[in-house]
Amino acid sequence: MAERLRAKTDISGEGADLLGQQLESKKPSSAQQYEADELFRQFVSQCESCSSCELAVERNNVVVWRGNIRAPLMIIGEGPGAEEDMQGRPFVGRSGQVLDQLLTAWDIREENFHICNIVKCRPPENRAPKPEEVEKCRPLLTRQFNLVKPRVILLMGATAYKYFTHDTTGITKVRGKWIEKSGFWIMPAFHPAYILRDPRRKNDLWEDVGAARRKLSELKLLPDLDA
Ligand code: SF4
Repeated sequence: MAERLRAKTDISGEGADLLGQQLESKKPSSAQQYEADELFRQFVSQCESCSSCELAVERNNVVVWRGNIRAPLMIIGEGPGAEEDMQGRPFVGRSGQVLDQLLTAWDIREENFHICNIVKCRPPENRAPKPEEVEKCRPLLTRQFNLVKPRVILLMGATAYKYFTHDTTGITKVRGKWIEKSGFWIMPAFHPAYILRDPRRKNDLWEDVGAARRKLSELKLLPDLDA
């Protein structure tokens, strides 16, 4: 099963394996940091002017990111909801509050994570994004991934899992199980919105965020929890 998932884990729609980027171990110099910041600003502008799919029609804002521009942990959800569309930031509604509580509880700080979604504009009536919308948005997510350079990826919910891995196995079966590919560590987890509907699964999400936190320590990207 894990092998099958590893073989399928490729979120690039244009042939290049998004997870095939070179891992960097050196801390960037100030000049490199400045250049990275500038590239990220250009990327955000590109997103804000995008009208590649029909989701551009009804949006109030293009919802690109929150957290840190460069972070060891990338958290990827499905798409913006009403509150996110109004504020222009991902995971700021009730789901975002649940996520923030978990991140704080596991001592994952804002500078440690980068949050985004599979699509950057709100699907009407909070429906799941259509495959063609995801494909149009995929190059932006690929660019974002290459700029942020995470090592650990938390996929929040079935839609994020399906479109990131191209695997249609239900999230209940795959959550909590690491997928390792080319030095990147991917953890599928329940979406916080699901936890709000079924609080009995909250412990599962707690465990999966905790697993991501421990992996960041193991990779020496964050201090040990008891340090
Ligand atoms: S969802 Fe993505 S591809 Fe579609 S308009 Fe928004 S930014 Fe562009």
